[in-house]
Amino acid sequence: LLCNEHMIRSFKFKLYRTKKTCELAWQAEIARQIWNRCLAVHRRYYRRTGKYLNRNRLQKRMTVWKTWKRFSHWNELGSQAIQDVSDRLEKGYKAFFKKDVRRPPRFKSEDKRKSFTLKQAGWGLNGNEVHIGNRTYKFHKSREVLGKPKTLTIKKDRVGDWWISISCEVGNESETYPKTGRSAGFDFGLKTFLTSSDGETIGSPQFLKRDLSAIRRKSRNHSTKVKGSSRRRKSRVDLARANRKIVFKRDDWQWKLADRLAREYDCLFFEDLSMTGMKALWGRKVSDLGFAEFVKKVEWLARKRGKRFGKIDRWAPTSKKCGACGQLNHELTLSDRTWKCGCCGAVHDRDGNAANNILELGRQLPKEVA
Ligand SMILES: [Zn+2]
Repeated sequence: LLCNEHMIRSFKFKLYRTKKTCELAWQAEIARQIWNRCLAVHRRYYRRTGKYLNRNRLQKRMTVWKTWKRFSHWNELGSQAIQDVSDRLEKGYKAFFKKDVRRPPRFKSEDKRKSFTLKQAGWGLNGNEVHIGNRTYKFHKSREVLGKPKTLTIKKDRVGDWWISISCEVGNESETYPKTGRSAGFDFGLKTFLTSSDGETIGSPQFLKRDLSAIRRKSRNHSTKVKGSSRRRKSRVDLARANRKIVFKRDDWQWKLADRLAREYDCLFFEDLSMTGMKALWGRKVSDLGFAEFVKKVEWLARKRGKRFGKIDRWAPTSKKCGACGQLNHELTLSDRTWKCGCCGAVHDRDGNAANNILELGRQLPKEVA
């Protein structure tokens, strides 16, 4: 997600490919070692005392570790980045205790995506250059950076490219979209990406379908290569590049669609998707299509543009319920595209009926929740 309530915006840029990025890899590796060390201590402390090690105490210990010979290389990573590790660890545990996430923080293996974050100190921007420590890296500046830069995250992706992500605090400059007096519910499907209660259907674009089948072909190809071979490594990068391309294209398409909907409607209602449930029901395709990512984009845009956004309880029977009389059709299966209500005889298009039910339930949502 690009933004939250405090109006933080992220700007992401790709670094030039040079040999200097080895330095970044080393720093990311130190950050990973610190993370794993802290996590181990956290777990041991919890096992012994049943209590959770708070950030201040952890930071005190870290200062001591830094003076040990075996951890002396930690000092090559800025103290800000070291502090960020303890911040993220605390955040991870808090989210877990609050049940926002299902798993506590986990150890990072060496081949995990590598990244580290710097707070306000220790880095600076100058045109298309970023200074990190005493090094300078050039990046592809695809747009202007707005607002006041707060943190810098440096990350390596699976293709092997390095990216910087700059979080900036921006003023509440957001422009709201004019009111249209229209409300709609939206239902996701496999055949049509989105169906609105107005009767509009939006299919997945052809390029997504094409790219997805290319990815399936590449991943089959990858699995035939011998483990540890250079061919396998090459096919992995090839696959990662194809995946990255589709993520970019899909994001772009989704942002445009989300923007159009935020312009056209004052109130937008969606189902609260349970991804694990949907995957079990529909298979891998669901994650390929990125419904959940799309909903996040719409929510962010709608709020920003002064429109109302609401999520319907995921257990509400939106598909099975007859929009005309309210009777539930328990015999409805996933393959039924249209159905006739056994009670009132109304004939329904599956997705359109669901979208209407979502709109109805959305209207009943208390305003402050939406
Ligand atoms: Zn009916």
